[in-house]
Amino acid sequence: MIPAVMFDLDETLFDRSSSLRIFIQQQFLRIAIGRFRNFNELADRFLQLDNRGRVSKRDVYRTIVDEIGSSNEHLAGDLFDDYEVNAWRYARPFEDTRDTLLWLRNAGIKTAIVSNGQTHIQLRTLLALNLDRLVDTYLISEQEGCRKPDAAIFLKAAERLSVKVEDCLFVGDSPEADILGARSVGMRTVWFPNGAEWPHAYSFEPSATISRLQELRPIIEHWHRA
Ligand SMILES: [Mg+2]
Repeated sequence: MIPAVMFDLDETLFDRSSSLRIFIQQQFLRIAIGRFRNFNELADRFLQLDNRGRVSKRDVYRTIVDEIGSSNEHLAGDLFDDYEVNAWRYARPFEDTRDTLLWLRNAGIKTAIVSNGQTHIQLRTLLALNLDRLVDTYLISEQEGCRKPDAAIFLKAAERLSVKVEDCLFVGDSPEADILGARSVGMRTVWFPNGAEWPHAYSFEPSATISRLQELRPIIEHWHRA
């Protein structure tokens, strides 16, 4: 029996790149004038520079504005401020996020979200998606003072759910933060790549790989029977 399933947030429960793409297109329509008119290309460039959330948005905007060649010296700062205030309004879950979490709850399996990032950004997203109502607990690295792949945050999450860490299952898109991290504390792991690549240097594999969240259910049911 798997007593608890833990999830990463960005690109696992939250369809971050699609959400961000829509926000960026709308943002440049609203704020940035200039010779840049291809909003789709602009969103591609933003997501490329963002590198799945690894790069500071302040730096991403600075580069974008340089590339646009804007003479407005406040533009990058204005766009960044607007991102902090408004990006969450465009947050969308994956289409089976809610059903997956409801199934787990009905099956008596505890759930947690373990997310790396700044509290104010991650929390707004989490609340916008109603995820606080759908999981038992959530841990955000900034407020916890530790981050994936460090063991400490996985141990805290298990403790908060009152389960043994080695009995848990972790689902995430990042091979390092999610899969390596959870594996190192003895959890089973499910990789939901969403475009991420498995590092050639890794000599291990996740316990399972899915292409949609709804594929979790048969995997968990199989493990329960085994
Ligand atoms: Mg992620």
